[in-house]
Amino acid sequence: MSPSSPGLGANSGAGGLAIFCDFDGTFSQRDVGSTLAQEYLPQARADLQKRYAEGGLSAWEYAVELFDGFEFGPERLETFLAGIELDVGARGLLGWCEERGVAFRILSDGFDYNLERLQAIHGIRFAYAANHLVFDAGRWRISPGGLNPACGCGTGTCKRSIIEAYRRDHPGAFCVHIGDGAVSDLCGARVADRVFAKGSLEESLGAQGVACEHFDDLAGVRRALEDAFSGDPPPAEPGRRASGDFRS
Ligand SMILES: [Mg+2]
Ligand SMILES: [Zn+2]
Repeated sequence: MSPSSPGLGANSGAGGLAIFCDFDGTFSQRDVGSTLAQEYLPQARADLQKRYAEGGLSAWEYAVELFDGFEFGPERLETFLAGIELDVGARGLLGWCEERGVAFRILSDGFDYNLERLQAIHGIRFAYAANHLVFDAGRWRISPGGLNPACGCGTGTCKRSIIEAYRRDHPGAFCVHIGDGAVSDLCGARVADRVFAKGSLEESLGAQGVACEHFDDLAGVRRALEDAFSGDPPPAEPGRRASGDFRS
């Protein structure tokens, strides 16, 4: 985004402002899936990373090979998830969106079960889209939340598809994407109006010449959004969905 770009308040349009935020490593400090894999599936992870780098499998195929059948029941998972901290600005950003009626949705290539438990553990609620996880005799059974064969991301939950669908439902919406990962955040970032990036997402966007703004934590993102609004809420639109209506 160039420095001359208009602020969100001026540019949020009739469709209002919508924030799409990655979960792992963005809304949370650590990545649930990759931390689990590092700790409990290190050899499978190393083998799959090699195959993924060679182009031998998609991001979703990687997830299936790694986690489908993973013997890690709800009790062990609960203990692990209790150690997952939120970003220092996560609650603040959520509260800011709620106060202003700004649509907020977590877009995650992780799993719905984990997001439900993490909301309960931290005493927060957010709308989200993610892949599905159920248990079968203590083993993980996973299915994709929204594959999009037309997108190059290859993930189970294509973020681009979700943002594009939101735009169709909310013509003129100003869409913000926040993320840290080149694999799952890139396609969403490329169709957003304004992008906050760190980690491999920031590197990939830079390499592709796509403008983004670096962020260290979500408190910084909230301050940037506040500045852009200059204290003015986005234009009211009768019938616009509340953020809670995002749930899929
Ligand atoms: Mg991430
Ligand atoms: Zn995609």
